[in-house]
Amino acid sequence: MSRKIDRLLLLDGRLTPSTGGGAFETIDPATEDVLGTAADGTPDDMDRAIGAARRAFDETSWSTDVEFRVRCLRQLREAMRRRSDELRELTIREVGAPRFLTFAAQLDAPVDDLGWFAGLAESYEWERDLGRAEPMGMASHRRVRMEAAGVVGAITPWNFPHQINLAKVGPALAAGNTVVLKPAPDTPWCAAVLGEIIAEETDIPAGVVNVVTSSDHGLGAQLVQDPRVDLVTFTGSTATGRNVMAGAAATLKRVFLELGGKSAFVVLDDADLKAACSYAAFSGIAHAGQGCAITTRILVPRALHDDAAEIMAKTLAKLGVGDPGDDRTICGPVVSAKQRERVEGYLRLAVEEGGSFACGGGRPADRDRGFWIEPTLVTGLANESRTAREEIFGPVLVMLPHDGDDDAVRIANDSPYGLSGAVHGGDAERARAVAGRLRTGTVSVNGGVWYGADVPFGGYKQSGIGREMGVAGFEEYLETKAIAEGVT
Ligand code: NAD
Repeated sequence: MSRKIDRLLLLDGRLTPSTGGGAFETIDPATEDVLGTAADGTPDDMDRAIGAARRAFDETSWSTDVEFRVRCLRQLREAMRRRSDELRELTIREVGAPRFLTFAAQLDAPVDDLGWFAGLAESYEWERDLGRAEPMGMASHRRVRMEAAGVVGAITPWNFPHQINLAKVGPALAAGNTVVLKPAPDTPWCAAVLGEIIAEETDIPAGVVNVVTSSDHGLGAQLVQDPRVDLVTFTGSTATGRNVMAGAAATLKRVFLELGGKSAFVVLDDADLKAACSYAAFSGIAHAGQGCAITTRILVPRALHDDAAEIMAKTLAKLGVGDPGDDRTICGPVVSAKQRERVEGYLRLAVEEGGSFACGGGRPADRDRGFWIEPTLVTGLANESRTAREEIFGPVLVMLPHDGDDDAVRIANDSPYGLSGAVHGGDAERARAVAGRLRTGTVSVNGGVWYGADVPFGGYKQSGIGREMGVAGFEEYLETKAIAEGVT
């Protein structure tokens, strides 16, 4: 008997079950309830998806018809806006994302951002005239033309699925590429519903976007290695990012990597300690700490360490955990049992390394279903400890003392990562100077928010290669062609 599959693959313009009809479950991390099933894509499905994207790129006018693309992107934005209530509930349940974040980066903001990429494609200078020159005595008229890179393989994680799917699909389409999207197995519905909307509510032609949900991580590797794919855009862990880069080497395709982080929140000695520490607590545990750019190392002046720990511990305990559907919840569950296990491994490690918990340190006593971790502050560790250096991806913050601005910069930069950071201080010029010395792709000064369609986002060091969002994020999906015409 064939089983009903709730959400399907998008292959060459058609919503379809996977070859063989397999399906896998998607789970509500707050309750462990099974929400339903998604088609379990196979290597054959991935092969068909890549073939369809290749054909749509090579044999249709998609890559050269900017006006049509702009219209399609605006259509997609409007269709997603029309379904935003349904998408909001889906995101809260599948991702465990707190409701307040769905009005921002978990849903509404990335949907709006599609319009920004459409506007950019419309106003972009696709061709620049370099004028006439006589290189080697040959009179030539030179032009530089920007063209779509080709077939884009987009591989995404589970923590901000709409934001990351759309921050890849949006600019890739605006630039004229065709796309195969392979989302994380933990959040297949967020991607599958994008496929449904594209197929049913937009004029985006068959093959231009293909969505292959699967429980098999191997499909990501297949997408990376296939010679028909021109460029891979990947967001995920640094360990997987290394595999992606290695996998792309055989066919020398371009890779764009958004990876992990262990960002510092620097409190200077002239900061309003209560305001800074309360903000560090709130921003550190939003979405249960499952954000690559979350500031998880809290660097405070040594003399103020104990006061800072007390303020943070009180704030974290007060914020606690809550049902993601509740408006007031900041910290929901972590995404899966596997992720909870990983975070609990770090809690044990923190103790083994000599740290202690100023608050939290385990599962909340009052929740027997769902994947919960208490908001936790670890003190008493050095920046050399693994707990302070490695990405935990849970609501676990580490407080470290510093001995002034130079020392704070040294500790902040003593990390294999370089994704983000924050500086809080009473003297804005001094805080800006410290921010300027952090080796990271984004920095917030005194609570400034860098998120935006027009703001490039990405990492230094092992946090990634390239930039997402902004003009830089759009240009990642372009090739540059120089044309010289002989003239008299
Ligand atoms: P992950 O690296 O385990 O998986 C990411 C994606 O890669 C998934 O779709 C997975 O199926 C796929 N994949 C797994 N193995 C692969 C392989 N060998 N080749 C190709 N694809 C493969 O990451 P995750 O657990 O889903 O997400 C959490 C991680 O993502 C964290 O490390 C976090 O910091 C990072 N992240 C980074 C950013 C950023 O912009 N820098 C944003 C969000 C999340």
